[in-house]
Amino acid sequence: MNKLTIKDLDVQGKRVLMRVDFNVPVKDGVVGDDTRIVAALPSINYVLENGGSLILMSHCGRPKGKKNPEFTLKPAADRLAELVDAKVTLAPDVIGPEVKALVDGLKAGEILVLENVRFYAEEEGEAKLADDATEEQIKAAKAEMKIKQDAFAKELASFGDVYVSDAFGTAHRAHASMVGVTKYIDQCAAGFLLEKEIEYLGNALENPKRPFVAIIGGAKISGKIDVVTNLMSKCDAILIGGGMAYTFYKAMGKAIGNSLVEEDKIELAGEILKQAKEKGVKLLLPIDNIAADAFSADANIKEVGDSIEDGWMALDIGPKTIELYCNEVAGAKTVVWNGPMGCFEMAPFAKGTFSVCEAVAKSDSVSIIGGGDSVAAVNQSGVADQMSHVSTGGGASLEFMEGKQLPGIVALTEK
Ligand code: AMP
Repeated sequence: MNKLTIKDLDVQGKRVLMRVDFNVPVKDGVVGDDTRIVAALPSINYVLENGGSLILMSHCGRPKGKKNPEFTLKPAADRLAELVDAKVTLAPDVIGPEVKALVDGLKAGEILVLENVRFYAEEEGEAKLADDATEEQIKAAKAEMKIKQDAFAKELASFGDVYVSDAFGTAHRAHASMVGVTKYIDQCAAGFLLEKEIEYLGNALENPKRPFVAIIGGAKISGKIDVVTNLMSKCDAILIGGGMAYTFYKAMGKAIGNSLVEEDKIELAGEILKQAKEKGVKLLLPIDNIAADAFSADANIKEVGDSIEDGWMALDIGPKTIELYCNEVAGAKTVVWNGPMGCFEMAPFAKGTFSVCEAVAKSDSVSIIGGGDSVAAVNQSGVADQMSHVSTGGGASLEFMEGKQLPGIVALTEK
């Protein structure tokens, strides 16, 4: 990796401003799933053990630029205090004189958690625009927000001597705490979690052990089209499942009944099929399906081939496709997976996703699971620990797989 990492920093006696992802589910003031907090512990403990102090920044939920106690980071800070052997203080705000005083009083080995950075609209930097705003007004509002965002980032940056980003989940956003602050701090490094994400995703895409197989599923083609296009020039095979498969079916002139389809993407799907053929990429679609007469767990269901009758919708890949896909996966040396093979949330349509999941776990490949729903499926199937890497960022890993540069990574200091 050509960016500074946390180990390149001398944190002894330094105040380390660290962006983490503590966007955790909270119920009745208590953190439900603390996975994201636990995932940040290696970087947090590294700083504490090496004589630094920490100022942690995170967002939680969508307070939309307002100080809303519903989205306080208190539950996350409380949970962190249970997980580390250090004094943890929650600041009453994100910036301002009170916070500054707490930062100044921070001793080596102590942690100050700033309040939810999204309590300030400056974090995301979206200008508020009236529906009837003229082009002139829009331009002025955006320019004004840019100045405010910069001032906000500068104040945040003043809290730290060095900066560490460990929030891969928001690395695709050019927010103040991810990008803005880096303008004002000389040394900006990737934490252990971010480094691992970049290493696994980066290596898989740039330097894959072959055969390299991508499994792409999920509801819609629209969210994954750039991933398929980018992977086409890198993979040996692409296995398509989930609702998006039926837009490809439609492009091939196959009957799809009531299956999910994006009418405005049929042409694009046809184009992708054509490109795959030209490039000699093995792009596989389901050869059979589990069809239902309603979108419901207690619908009537039947196995069908690659043609879906009217009145039926395909909600999972069928047994022959499972076999085909699992065989591809079994021979792979690198597997990247994003998106379920069917409506795995409903038991009758979960077999495709879970079977592929088990095949990936069993395979002798570097396996990378990216994206929210595939991560949920892998966790549910109980084989998450058999995967090489389960990404912590849905949108970010998707953009990475699309071949895009993530602003939160680009902004870090070159080695
Ligand atoms: P995405 O967020 O695009 O990865 O889509 C995930 C969602 O796609 C899950 O909630 C699945 O239930 C849904 N999905 C997968 N296969 C199908 C299908 N054949 N028809 C409708 N929805 C599907």
